[in-house]
Amino acid sequence: MGTSLASPEAQAEEVVDRLHEAYPDSTISLNYANRLELLIAVVLSAQCTDERVNDVTQELFEKYQTPEDYAEASEEQLAEDIYGITFHNNKGGYLKGIGEQIVDEHDGEVPDTMSALTDLPGVGRKTANVVLQHGHDIVEGIVVDTHVQRISRRLGLTEEERPEAIEQDLLDIVPESEWQQFTHLLIDHGRAVCGARSAECGECVLADICPSEKGDSDVDLASGEPW
Ligand code: SF4
Repeated sequence: MGTSLASPEAQAEEVVDRLHEAYPDSTISLNYANRLELLIAVVLSAQCTDERVNDVTQELFEKYQTPEDYAEASEEQLAEDIYGITFHNNKGGYLKGIGEQIVDEHDGEVPDTMSALTDLPGVGRKTANVVLQHGHDIVEGIVVDTHVQRISRRLGLTEEERPEAIEQDLLDIVPESEWQQFTHLLIDHGRAVCGARSAECGECVLADICPSEKGDSDVDLASGEPW
């Protein structure tokens, strides 16, 4: 039986506390050794699994070590070097454009502002937030990926559908000190228990406070459809 706590702030805080306990080592699962590698890995991870990205970047990061390396390569070569990544042709173009822009406009450094990052090809607010948080220690938003989108709705933390609107709701109710960790906790919970097609409510540490919990609700609040 799941019932949300009285206020959205209390609900958010309780969710964070319980997930910290369930996933004490929760963190980003992409491999990278510097800001450029982080940026490239996050761009590649759009609609692709982190495992696949880590697999491909092992060799990629040996071959391409500077923004100039990406700028000087052809799009075709880059696409070939990231073969296996979803949308590798488009992303090959993004990587070249990112290298060029970093060399031409940012003295070879990965920029540290939301606006400069989102000006780079293939970089939206989600990617920029990850790079700011993990590359520059600047936390000015909450990364809303597909797990955060789905589970926030299931837990009644938002009724919005678009990631940007969900982020705005979450910023109002998640304690600021948890903005970065919130994403990783929900991703871990999505992978372990609360999957898109396989919510294991019987195994879930949030079952008693989740309004989508299957014993209580006929409807998955993430989709609005019956379970
Ligand atoms: S697994 Fe079930 S109870 Fe747990 S958060 Fe997901 S929908 Fe709610």
